[in-house]
Amino acid sequence: MSEAVNTNDFKILVVDDAPENVMLLGLILKDQGAVTTATSGREAIDIALEMQPDLILLDIQMPDLDGYDVIRVLKQDERTKNVPVIFVTGLSDESDEEKGLELGAIDYITKPYKPAVVLARVRNHLRLREYALRLEQLNEKLELLATTDPLTSAYNRRYFMSKLQDELERVDRYNRPSSILMLDIDHFKSINDTYGHDVGDVVLVELVNVLGEKVRQLDTVARLGGEEFAILLPETNEAAAKVSAVRLLDAVRSISVDAAGEALKFTVSIGCAEFDGGCDGVENVLKSADLALYEAKHGGRDRVVTKSSMQAA
Ligand code: GH3
Ligand code: MG
Ligand code: MG
Repeated sequence: MSEAVNTNDFKILVVDDAPENVMLLGLILKDQGAVTTATSGREAIDIALEMQPDLILLDIQMPDLDGYDVIRVLKQDERTKNVPVIFVTGLSDESDEEKGLELGAIDYITKPYKPAVVLARVRNHLRLREYALRLEQLNEKLELLATTDPLTSAYNRRYFMSKLQDELERVDRYNRPSSILMLDIDHFKSINDTYGHDVGDVVLVELVNVLGEKVRQLDTVARLGGEEFAILLPETNEAAAKVSAVRLLDAVRSISVDAAGEALKFTVSIGCAEFDGGCDGVENVLKSADLALYEAKHGGRDRVVTKSSMQAA
């Protein structure tokens, strides 16, 4: 992901209602990337939204939509709001230039222009674009590192806690319960001891893959640490969460990991706790699920115990 952005991959959109202007700019910029052209404001917007160019050279005076209209539309759309725009225009008044820059253009070039200067400016802006793209990639990487577990790619504890905190605030507002499942691999230590740590790691990865496949899109699977996992089930009461948990038990039972030619099977225990606006704090929610998990272990493993069944007992 961090490889250098290749300059030849830049997509440049040149917009001018006069075909000869478009051609000339295309010629000047031909070695800076792939040049696409448009000869009306409407066409420019359609192409920009579709291909999200790295740079747009935009004429101002055009029939129907002018360049100011075009940049206004582009700046309002998520897909194009960060695409740099350079006006290339016959309008040379101070007020026109000021307006163009205020609308978000990064540069303003007046016609007649000097081709070498246009080229130099475009190259400068493309260099900045390259930095911006690299920064974006690094941020994505950083975000992933900060929120996920490197072995299994499940979310990490920190991410889960903040997600749970958000969910607590949400259930409080809408007064509808959600649930969490706390899940722990049974006798994991003996898997490590018998087959080695590497096989233990494969078990962790396989488990997360299967959990990810079996839960809903809006559920969050996280590795809290070691061989302990938590799953947040928004908009799910305890009865429904228990049904999910039983389904997960089944899915885990059918996992088979290759351990030196042997088909290794394993099970998990699950504690399930519903929470609503009345509960106080994420730690308490986790504690309830943890107690239920403890009961599931105590009761013989490979099973689900819910918080309310414990309270009833
Ligand atoms: P129980 O059924 O009561 O949960 O028993 P258990 O053996 O699963 O639980 P215990 O807490 O005794 O052992 C957990 C083991 O998990 C010990 C630790 O070495 C191992 N472990 C923790 N993190 C990792 C990891 O990333 N990879 C591997 N392979 N093992 C890990
Ligand atoms: Mg365990
Ligand atoms: Mg454990």
